[in-house]
Amino acid sequence: MRLILMGPPGAGKGTQATVISERLGVPAISTGDIFRANVSEGTPLGLEAKRYMDAGDYVPDEVTNGMVRDRIGQDDAVSGFLLDGYPRTVAQVEELDAMLAESGSTLDAAVVLTVDDEELVQRLLHRARTEGRSDDTEEVIRHRQEVYNEQTAPLIEVYAERGTLVEVDGMGAVDEVSGRILAALDQVRGADAG
Ligand code: ADP
Repeated sequence: MRLILMGPPGAGKGTQATVISERLGVPAISTGDIFRANVSEGTPLGLEAKRYMDAGDYVPDEVTNGMVRDRIGQDDAVSGFLLDGYPRTVAQVEELDAMLAESGSTLDAAVVLTVDDEELVQRLLHRARTEGRSDDTEEVIRHRQEVYNEQTAPLIEVYAERGTLVEVDGMGAVDEVSGRILAALDQVRGADAG
């Protein structure tokens, strides 16, 4: 399966991407994780990305698109992948469409996790205390939410119009949410097969 996982910062994308990708046997590709790995290794990509990430802004599309194109071209992603945190802008949707068209494949589903605003803030502040990510300060969190609402939330409508959107309630325990996602994807696969 080829999937994208969407949702605001703190919705649990990274956590669910790990669980779901293992269950489906496809690699989870997290743009945030790839950027953070590059930052800690001090690569040129990491140096460029860090300025944007620390401010809570999106890394420029051409940088992100090139990175994703490389990653989904690798062997382990040939028969499927789960993209976590990509696409986040209209330009990234267009680029992903082009990449899929070039390989003659299609997206099976765009899963969006929905979580109450108040719960999102609580989760991010908790993550700030436990993981110490440099972009989890209250000010930067607020900015990331604004950027998400302006640039990424509109993509939900794009995938809804295409008929590939799968909305999943992201509230509750991790395994409850995983169960909901897997059940929803079973329906997608059932519909494709039938
Ligand atoms: P979150 O979903 O909590 O914002 P991520 O780990 O997914 O966290 O992303 C962290 C940061 O990495 C983002 O704030 C942004 O700067 C950068 N980033 C991740 N994915 C993208 C993307 N698709 N386009 C642009 N920037 C991205």
